[in-house]
Amino acid sequence: SAPRRPPKASNFTVAVRVRPENEEEKNGRHYNVIKVTNDHLLVFDPPESGGSDGMMARPQSAPPLRPRTSTGRQRKAKDQPFAFDVVFDENATQKEVFTGTALPLVGFVLEGYNATMFAYGATGAGKTHTMLGHDDSGQGIMMLTLTELFARINSMDTHSVKCLVSYIEIYNEKIRDLLAPVTEKPVYLSLREDPKLGPTVAGLSEKAISTPAEAMDLLAQGSSTRTQFATGANAYSSRSHAILRVRIESRPKDAGMSADITQGKLSLIDLAGSERAARTKNMGARLLEGANINRSLLALGNCINALCTAKGRKVYVPYRDSKLTRLLKDSLGGNTKTVMINNISPSSFSYEDTLNTLKYANRAKQI
Ligand code: ADP
Ligand code: MG
Repeated sequence: SAPRRPPKASNFTVAVRVRPENEEEKNGRHYNVIKVTNDHLLVFDPPESGGSDGMMARPQSAPPLRPRTSTGRQRKAKDQPFAFDVVFDENATQKEVFTGTALPLVGFVLEGYNATMFAYGATGAGKTHTMLGHDDSGQGIMMLTLTELFARINSMDTHSVKCLVSYIEIYNEKIRDLLAPVTEKPVYLSLREDPKLGPTVAGLSEKAISTPAEAMDLLAQGSSTRTQFATGANAYSSRSHAILRVRIESRPKDAGMSADITQGKLSLIDLAGSERAARTKNMGARLLEGANINRSLLALGNCINALCTAKGRKVYVPYRDSKLTRLLKDSLGGNTKTVMINNISPSSFSYEDTLNTLKYANRAKQI
């Protein structure tokens, strides 16, 4: 496929990735609701898509179909174009997605800044595939980022650089270490504000790693721990956030121990599914409580909304409202870079979820 353009120079990049249809979506009474026009543009529910009869493209001469989704509801957003910094269609490789999203963050973090990339979208839309990758699908953003980081570090002859990695999960506003041995009784960690390091998780394992093989082991350990945490809990994986954090400590090689250390942090996040947050948006406070809505996800949305309205001015950003946003206080907005990748399904089966994600992403473009 065509080479992808690197993202804009701004500090907040909004990307969209459309995954391929799965077998169920191909065979069922569903139709494709996403047409990727180019690297920056997609059309939601274009007129040439199948409409209520599904499956086949409708010829121009055919009588208009009743505008219905697969769930029988009105088609809400027929033929709506959306523009983003970068759009990846279903043929985009993991490498292409990496190059167009996380790659520019690597150099930025090595220079001593903080950066964040997170995957947003409904359950099943492709967040974990993008960030972690699945078997035989090629490595995801986490692995590709670490590999690139090691390559850069090894080719530097002026600085000696340490790369310290931690991997945590937030579920129900509780933080757990994915790199610690699994114990029978769950161990929850608390957040601290470190004057030098910023928001820090107390008692967290941090592993110094320098090779792709070590990174692979570490990610595998994290995944295995996540699976063990999930047993018994309903929809656990769709409600938890996984956060891989890479801390860089860099010092000039010829300057001895007294030299200034340059620090940078990169957070790579596989967010909880957005479907509940989007659906409960219009509920009252009491209903919201009952819905056990994902506080970290809502708070992230509120922080993004606040940053949207900032336009260079100083605004109040409610970082303190959740564990996730407290952790990202020095890595989101301000003097940092953020990449938000919005994962969507191309199928009318996920009509509402996809439209909600596109609207959310569209709003974040204003940052
Ligand atoms: P999420 O983490 O958002 O719930 P997943 O990443 O688990 O979604 O994706 C759901 C399913 O779709 C998985 O089986 C995954 O392998 C597949 N999938 C997602 N994105 C892609 C892609 N770009 N190419 C191929 N398969 C994908
Ligand atoms: Mg997932």
